[in-house]
Amino acid sequence: MKDSNHIENKDEYKNLKVNTGVAQPSSIDDNAVSRFKRVKKSALSLDDYFDGIRKGDRSILSRAITLIESSLPKHQVLAQKIIERCLPFSGNSIRVGITGVPGVGKSTFIETIGLHVISKAHKLAVLAIDPSSERTRGSILGDKTRMEELSREDSAYIRPSPSAGSLGGVARKTRETIILCEAAGFDTIFIETVGVGQSETAVHSMVDFFLLLMLAGAGDELQGIKRGIIEMADAIAINKSDGDNIQRAEIAKQQYINALHLFPLGESAWSPNVITCSAVKNTGISKIWETVNQYINFTKENGYFSKRRNEQSKYWMYESINEALKNNFYNNKLIEEKIRYYEQQVLENNISSFVAARLLLDEYYFKD
Ligand code: GDP
Repeated sequence: MKDSNHIENKDEYKNLKVNTGVAQPSSIDDNAVSRFKRVKKSALSLDDYFDGIRKGDRSILSRAITLIESSLPKHQVLAQKIIERCLPFSGNSIRVGITGVPGVGKSTFIETIGLHVISKAHKLAVLAIDPSSERTRGSILGDKTRMEELSREDSAYIRPSPSAGSLGGVARKTRETIILCEAAGFDTIFIETVGVGQSETAVHSMVDFFLLLMLAGAGDELQGIKRGIIEMADAIAINKSDGDNIQRAEIAKQQYINALHLFPLGESAWSPNVITCSAVKNTGISKIWETVNQYINFTKENGYFSKRRNEQSKYWMYESINEALKNNFYNNKLIEEKIRYYEQQVLENNISSFVAARLLLDEYYFKD
């Protein structure tokens, strides 16, 4: 039927005929809307967040972390206030970075050692850094079978990597998340990262102990992972040392011990251990946890522990400034308008990259 109200059925569009449409069901689920409204209504105050976190309420902790991860300015403001309130209650944990290539067994390992750690009356939070995000969401939690047992434990809290964002941004969010987790009473923090790129450096800059998971075999043990990452390791665990892999794992262990001898001792004066383990068979796991504790005691005694934490704080101050300046520049309206134009000028060889950068920065500095 012709819809007489429709503007295009007026005489001036006489070649057109627009029929009355069929009412479409709302694409929004009404139940979801009312649920959302309920959630919105119960928006928490700064005190609610702080008290909830201090009581170890994980749903409030999760909501606070979501604020940290949000890019909305009003969320960011609240998140910063929560972090500030929590700061005096943070810092009392052991922070362990765990890295290794995909498939080395990180999730399995974290589940096994995580259960071991909480059996010693610790409270464990597992965080992740992976700026390639979507994959990590899948890899740390999406597949429900991963860390299934650990995630059911009251003493464990597992949070996937914040999604979108630059590595610097994701890393900063993870560092802020550590503060909230510590204020919530978690005394052990694991930070998982995929050992294939830059994220190790970011993780290294926020943990006390850095564990590298490796595999035996393939003949080129030292090739799979960058030398710089091996140099960062406080311990190397050769995983999957079970079944007919045990002998190969022992050979690999010797090769790593030899390789590590070639590196000069780091500032911590700690000589990195190489340990074989099986995350599936739960062998070597307690030894690795003992090593972490030995390292912590050793570096607390020689002063390196607090020195490193101080250096990390300094590093994060500068990182935060860098991040904020960069975001301010790129989100500036004037820059947003002009940057494509200058980019095009550079692509067409009309001006050099340096001149383009200079001109854009001038626009930014003298914008007022
Ligand atoms: P991730 O990608 O590093 O997190 O690795 P996963 O934890 O998902 O493990 C990859 C595969 O290796 C899975 O099939 C695990 O069951 C297997 N795996 C993990 N740890 C061990 C281990 O200690 N021994 C053996 N034989 N397999 C393992």
